[in-house]
Amino acid sequence: MKNWSTYHHWTPAEIAYPRNEAEVQQLIRRANKEKKKVRIIGSAHSFMPLWTTEQILINLDQYQGIVAIDQDLQQATVRAGTKLYTLGETLFTHGLAMENLGDIDRQSLGGTIGTGTHGTGLQLGSISTQVVKLRLVNGLGELVECSSTHNASLFKAAQVSLGALGIITEITLQCVPAYRLALQNLKEPLDTVLQELEDRYRQERNFEFYWFPYTASAWTKTSNIVTDQVDKVSWMNHFTEYVVENYAFKVLCEAAYHFPMLNERVAKISAAAIAPVRKVFASHKVYATQRLVKFNEMEYSVPIAAQREVLHDIRRLFERKRFPIHFPIENRVVRQDDIYLSPAQGRDSAYIACHAYAKKDPLPYFSALEEIFQAYEGRPHWGKMNTFSQEQAAAAYPYFENFKRHQKEQDPEGLFLNDYLAKLLT
Ligand SMILES: Cc1cc2nc3c(=O)[nH]c(=O)nc-3n(C[C@H](O)[C@H](O)[C@H](O)COP(=O)(O)OP(=O)(O)OC[C@H]3O[C@@H](n4cnc5c(N)ncnc54)[C@H](O)[C@@H]3O)c2cc1C
Repeated sequence: MKNWSTYHHWTPAEIAYPRNEAEVQQLIRRANKEKKKVRIIGSAHSFMPLWTTEQILINLDQYQGIVAIDQDLQQATVRAGTKLYTLGETLFTHGLAMENLGDIDRQSLGGTIGTGTHGTGLQLGSISTQVVKLRLVNGLGELVECSSTHNASLFKAAQVSLGALGIITEITLQCVPAYRLALQNLKEPLDTVLQELEDRYRQERNFEFYWFPYTASAWTKTSNIVTDQVDKVSWMNHFTEYVVENYAFKVLCEAAYHFPMLNERVAKISAAAIAPVRKVFASHKVYATQRLVKFNEMEYSVPIAAQREVLHDIRRLFERKRFPIHFPIENRVVRQDDIYLSPAQGRDSAYIACHAYAKKDPLPYFSALEEIFQAYEGRPHWGKMNTFSQEQAAAAYPYFENFKRHQKEQDPEGLFLNDYLAKLLT
């Protein structure tokens, strides 16, 4: 097995594809009897070794689709193996949509909430905040239900659980009526963006920007709800989004990989190549972008007020260290929530992400930036590379002990703990 970026490789003795909750329960009971460890994997789009095991790996690709839609409450109950790209289409045919999404749609719903996946928007929480109820099979093989009113504390643990409490089988989402987004991508001076940052976040529904190292340019992406007609697919947009952002970018990545002195030039070429894009589509099609170039990623959430300073420190660090890196630094915001292990727990957060081409060793670059993130009370995205220890997590998360208590109660034998999770949680 390998993850999306191909950084992690492992060989489970068995991969199981249960087709219903009863089969998940049987698997867990058998694993208990045979004293085997179990990990659950979605689309393997995380960058941390969350699913590595030499024993049993469970995948819910055979357990996808909608269980029920409640049109009055605008809620959809969905099997946890469902991929976001099919979910978006299905909800749309029922006149519904998810309130916000991240920038790709290849993940499974269970994996998406497993690490607290988020998009951007000051008024919008991570995808885990869209969950109103869920069911899981715990380490004893029991089926447990929780929501904000039933087993409420377990629910706050299960909304971002790293697959450590059990196998989530069904997830009820609070949806919103289907909507269209108008997306506008622009190249702008970074200083202008930074001056107007608070206004942009306040005024635009979804706003994010990328800073290209070694340049003074930012690539801004703004989207707002509109009632305009959906656009025809424009060849210019298609060319920019597929060819320029993926195939041409891949050629540049290879050049910079083989000739590291080209990185600064490649960053400048990438910034110069940003072309304006404007399009109107159903929301789920606007959020999702194509990511055909493989990379590794680290992303930290910091208190929103610290965003400018963090970016300032990163720029100074690039001036000093001249990292052989050309991928841009991504900046998003997420509304605070009350989920025990959510990086946005208790504070409106800026999420700042750095990327490195998958063939390169990302660690020297990532560890230098991680020092900056941690100096600003950073909390890592659990699915992205980080070296956060149990002690750091305990200091950063006020409800870390509550999470650990639920982990112990749902999985007393540590069936779901692999090496990484055992270090983090026990
Ligand atoms: C190209 C790319 C773009 C990305 N864009 C974004 C983005 O915009 N925003 C963002 O926040 N993140 C983003 N990510 C990160 C990604 O969304 C998360 O890592 C997400 O967790 C991956 O989902 P997955 O289905 O691949 O889960 P996996 O990586 O397979 O698993 C993630 C975690 O969820 C657990 N899990 C999976 N299924 C279940 C289940 N049924 N029950 C219990 N636990 C379960 C796993 O055990 C694991 O701990 C991106 C990643 C890539 C590669």
